[in-house]
Amino acid sequence: MMSNLVGIDLGTTYSAISRLDDNGNPEIIDNSEGQNITPSIVSFENESNVIVGNVAMQIYGVDENTFGRFKREMGTDKEYLVFDKKYNPVSLSSFVLKKLKEDCEKNHGAISEAVVTIPANFANEAREATLIAAKTAGLSVKNIINEPTAAALYYAYSSGEELNGIYAIYDLGGGTFDISIIKVKGSDIEVLNSDGVSRLGGDDFDNKLIEIVMKKFKKQTGKELDPEDFTKNDAEIHKKTLSSRDKTKIRISSTKGRVVLEVTKEEFENSISRLIAQTEITCENVLDEIKKSVNDLNEIILVGGSTRMPSIVKSVEKVFKKKPKTFGNPDEAVALGAALYVAYKSDPSNLTPLQKRAISKVNISDVTTKFFGTSVVKMNSEESEGLVQNDILIRKGEKLPCSITKDYATIVENQTRIDCDVTESNVEEKELDFVKKIWEGKLDLPPGRPANQQIKVTFSYDENQTMKCSFVDVESNKKTEINLSLDNENIQTDIDINDFKVD
Ligand code: ADP
Ligand code: MG
Repeated sequence: MMSNLVGIDLGTTYSAISRLDDNGNPEIIDNSEGQNITPSIVSFENESNVIVGNVAMQIYGVDENTFGRFKREMGTDKEYLVFDKKYNPVSLSSFVLKKLKEDCEKNHGAISEAVVTIPANFANEAREATLIAAKTAGLSVKNIINEPTAAALYYAYSSGEELNGIYAIYDLGGGTFDISIIKVKGSDIEVLNSDGVSRLGGDDFDNKLIEIVMKKFKKQTGKELDPEDFTKNDAEIHKKTLSSRDKTKIRISSTKGRVVLEVTKEEFENSISRLIAQTEITCENVLDEIKKSVNDLNEIILVGGSTRMPSIVKSVEKVFKKKPKTFGNPDEAVALGAALYVAYKSDPSNLTPLQKRAISKVNISDVTTKFFGTSVVKMNSEESEGLVQNDILIRKGEKLPCSITKDYATIVENQTRIDCDVTESNVEEKELDFVKKIWEGKLDLPPGRPANQQIKVTFSYDENQTMKCSFVDVESNKKTEINLSLDNENIQTDIDINDFKVD
């Protein structure tokens, strides 16, 4: 049976789905409204009807049963109350995925396997949450891939020529900014470093435009503008106009008055200059951290809808001292790369000869984007009391897959238990107050032993961005293990998606 392989870019503001055709070319699948990208907005019409996409977007920010930007909350316990029922970011994401899935299946039959992309800087919990959302939507997802890696994969594929050297993938979308440095050598793609600002994107630019409009409205009418009279959707439309024109005219007719305002590109660009400065610092850091300079880069590749803004292109050129490159639609590259990745990961017997050929050109290796450690007691030689500190096992930038084992020891005679935990941090950090505990467990030990018994701790991180951790008491071989992956049921959705009609 022919398989139907798809890649899904589950974006903060827009999502896209792409499919690998029989010739091995990834193609974007339009949604049932005929659009190549679908706003990641979910609107509850009633207890059993949900609308996803453009129609929902038109009332986003105005209607209380319409939600967006939940990708920013993935892995957290944020709740959304609708018709007396609670939803979490995972369930909202699964509605978006269901819409993409159903629209694709209408014309192309059942999806056999999907890859969903995630930001390189997503914490482990958010990665798991994404997998659970996919499962809830009824998608078979065995693999996830970092967004910049997917974009690089598509770039390598579509450029046709053999790539060699170091590339920057600059991704500025609606909700997040990501910058990744990638090494390509022949068919190998390796992510050298990745950084970002998790709450910076086109959304913030829209908000700045709303601020400008509110000020102007107040100045002209003496009254406060109501949010429903100039919505986020309106702001986005005018922001896009300012990407190609020097000014935009905004008509507002509200109960408080009818006015026509004008916002110039210059006013808008001034209002976002501090946000852009933040992206520039992040770009400098990502190179500094791996001791590279802009001269080491072959190309800067633009991804994400906001890179259509001339001021962003200017900023990138200023930082990297080189004209950046765009290939195809910047908001499609991630989904297209993901479709190639499904094939790359899929059993070759499921692929057509041409599909096999398309992926034979690439080989991908990724790195960890966080530090992972565990809390240990460091004995202080002068006092008998120990100091509890974070001890790193897996370092940021470690090539995947990796497995690291460290030896620790029990502290006191007759010790009957050790606390086992897994920590995550963005920087190398000893203070436990500054790291996030992503798991806590215990290991019971046999009684009656002297101090200083060997405890082996192993963290293994695979290409699929999931981690297994084990804590072993060597003498008794007793162990505690945790699989921080798809099998972990810590995060759940409280919905049965089949109870809903999703359009
Ligand atoms: P995501 O962050 O969800 O991955 P995208 O990469 O699709 O999103 O980028 C979406 C953002 O790009 C939105 O904020 C959208 O307004 C913005 N955008 C798209 N086209 C333009 C344009 N022509 N000018 C300015 N911003 C744009
Ligand atoms: Mg994106």
